[in-house]
Amino acid sequence: MASVMFAAFDLTRNSLPCGEGTAIFLNRHDAAEVLKKSGKSGEAMDVARFRDHLYVIKRGGEAILYDVNRVTTYACNEIEAHLLGDAKNAIAGASERLDRLLKLSTSLANCGLQAPYSGHPNSLFLNLSHACNLKCAYCYSSGCLVDDAPRFMGRDEVMASVEYLLQGINPGEAASITFAGGEPLLNFRAIKAAVGLAHRRQREKGVSIQYRILTNGTIMDAELLRFILAHGIWIQISLDGPPETHDRLRRAHDGSGTFDKVERTIRFLKENGYPRFSVRSTVCHGNSDLSKITRFMEGKGLKDIYLRPVIAGPGESVRLTEQDVSKVCAFYNKASKRLVEDGAAELPEDFSVYVNRLTLGLKTKRHCGAGRDLLVVTPGGAFYPCPSLAGDPRYRLGTLADGLDRESFENLSVDEKPKCRQCWARNLCGGGCVAQAAKTTGDLRDPDPLECKIIKAKIAGAISIYHRRKETVPV
Ligand code: SF4
Ligand code: SF4
Repeated sequence: MASVMFAAFDLTRNSLPCGEGTAIFLNRHDAAEVLKKSGKSGEAMDVARFRDHLYVIKRGGEAILYDVNRVTTYACNEIEAHLLGDAKNAIAGASERLDRLLKLSTSLANCGLQAPYSGHPNSLFLNLSHACNLKCAYCYSSGCLVDDAPRFMGRDEVMASVEYLLQGINPGEAASITFAGGEPLLNFRAIKAAVGLAHRRQREKGVSIQYRILTNGTIMDAELLRFILAHGIWIQISLDGPPETHDRLRRAHDGSGTFDKVERTIRFLKENGYPRFSVRSTVCHGNSDLSKITRFMEGKGLKDIYLRPVIAGPGESVRLTEQDVSKVCAFYNKASKRLVEDGAAELPEDFSVYVNRLTLGLKTKRHCGAGRDLLVVTPGGAFYPCPSLAGDPRYRLGTLADGLDRESFENLSVDEKPKCRQCWARNLCGGGCVAQAAKTTGDLRDPDPLECKIIKAKIAGAISIYHRRKETVPV
């Protein structure tokens, strides 16, 4: 009963001008036939085109028919029953009804809900320091460290950046400021200046601002913690896994490992009751065993874990290989199956981002907000679209003094990327990481094929989690 009501819910939502999405359960025999005819997709999971915009995703003993255009899931027999008023014979004569269903699906497909875009960034990254006390194997800031920009952001640039952000935020709206680098805590003075001004201005304007610090976790003391606690700042600490892995990848300038310092910081935060921190692991060649990383983190009692594939191009030693990517995809495949079986309420961010899109019926036209909702300011006041492209003059989008010019970053929606137009995952993926594309192909419209495999593994997992939730959550 619950799942039938879910189907009704979906129909209500999809009848709105902004509604999207469908996935339909096939029986095992149908799914096996489709997969046999289409051949394997070559991905970690069985994904095969069925017809038109419908794809079969086979997971263990079940198969989900995913409708690319409409981006959600419901059981075939249920939706047919609702659409055709024929609950008893919903399975029989499926072909004819599927044709009618496809027509309806197609007619609804072009009115999808899309994330609104105000035209002004609401998420500002302040690269406060191009200096860093570490020299990590895969550092995306290495470009910043060699250009001729100043090493630290000064007070005037900090103030101008905060004002720039706030001028586009209307009363009642939210924004975020992320302090990054290099190592932002080497420029604590700038953090204090930014938070002080933003606090005052947010009260005046009636907006809310969330603050984050992305740190390597080697700098922490009581004064810093007091400030962080007083202003409700979130911290993300880079931790790559067990000591031998972390110390190999994240070293100080003298070559020594930094695991002990990071562990000390985490212990200090926990002992002082600071709940708002997450850890981020960079997944790269030499650190691609996600089971090992997550086991280690969970053993340490760390819950908020972000696994981020390294941004690296061909020829770079840290770039994930085909073999690494297969392992990573197998991990997501297994993890999603376990989450389906356990019915876990809390999902890792790797899946929750897509499950949320499915739940909202949100058609995603861009992979992230780079260059639109998200803007980076570097020391010297230059604008960049994303932290991984900061410091590369090819992607500079203007300056605080001259204003924002993002013409070179327009026309990057998923519909404007030739390979993405044919991809079953496009409306949940949004076209891949442009920073990774820049590194791999040099063309922002041409995504990295290895990254695509990882994205598709996560999305296939998220579709199965979403579908199971719809079937089981009482309504
Ligand atoms: S980036 Fe890759 S996975 Fe994403 S839509 Fe494009 S082709 Fe598909
Ligand atoms: S372009 Fe890539 S690295 Fe940059 S913000 Fe987007 S997803 Fe992140």
